[in-house]
Amino acid sequence: MRLLLRPFLLILAAMSHATAADPTARPNPFGLVLHGGAGVIDRRNLTPEKEAELRAKLTEAREAGYAVLQRGGPALDAVIATITILEDSPLFNAGKGAVFNHDGICELDASIMDGRTQAAGAIAGVRRIRNPITLARAVMEKSSHVLLSGEGAEKFAAQQGFAFVPNEYFQTEARRRQWEQALQREAGGKTSSWEFPDAAQVDRTGRYGTVGCVALDQAGNLAAGTSTGGMTNKKFGRIGDAPIIGAGTYASNATCAVSATGWGEFFIRVGVARDIAAQLEYRGTPLAEAAAATMAKVGQ
Ligand code: ASP
Repeated sequence: MRLLLRPFLLILAAMSHATAADPTARPNPFGLVLHGGAGVIDRRNLTPEKEAELRAKLTEAREAGYAVLQRGGPALDAVIATITILEDSPLFNAGKGAVFNHDGICELDASIMDGRTQAAGAIAGVRRIRNPITLARAVMEKSSHVLLSGEGAEKFAAQQGFAFVPNEYFQTEARRRQWEQALQREAGGKTSSWEFPDAAQVDRTGRYGTVGCVALDQAGNLAAGTSTGGMTNKKFGRIGDAPIIGAGTYASNATCAVSATGWGEFFIRVGVARDIAAQLEYRGTPLAEAAAATMAKVGQ
């Protein structure tokens, strides 16, 4: 079990597991990895108190997911338990505390994938669902679709009995300031507009975020989930990589589970999560090597 604060990419490899034939055999390996987003924190502005607060919340989320696995629960439940805690915290760019889009509204994306069956569910651009990851799961389990967006996703949520919250529930003062600063930079014609960026000049602070979790349960099943508010000052209706299966999220028992964070437009174009899994699947490339190769493509 590891706690990561600023990864760009989070991966948990599928591990082979022993059969239950020998009662003295050690329990099957299980584990969980989570992330609280890349680039959200500038260490220069990170006070010890703030760091302690972030770590405490990550630890709480990690332990909630780990407890599910420890009692033999499914990887999917562990992913949900972990991500809902991070979504409920204003510290991360997912659920409460999500970044603002260009219009000053929080629009949320999330997805989840079951490595056992490769079933997947995702929602994009929802504005009123407190825990987007749970709606993504409902899409996976209660609909015949993979991705629902905007008003349609919320209509489905209402049919499924989800409670709605006003968009203000997600909005925090810190995110409002970041949005206002982004608007000012944009009005000043600075290159920090992320649509036409000079990567070297882009202010990363407050732009990214996202939370994610991958888990391996005692039955040997993998799952992955990702949830985000996207990127500050994103265009109304913009959808990032987090709800795109194969870009921000992927899980297959045959290979690995992936939850990504970073600049979604690049992750979509490379098809990051599936690209890593494909290397394991087709070439047997070791996980770390595959991830490095894929991230090199993103860098290019
Ligand atoms: N990948 C997310 C997006 O582009 C942002 C992030 O990871 O911080 O929407």
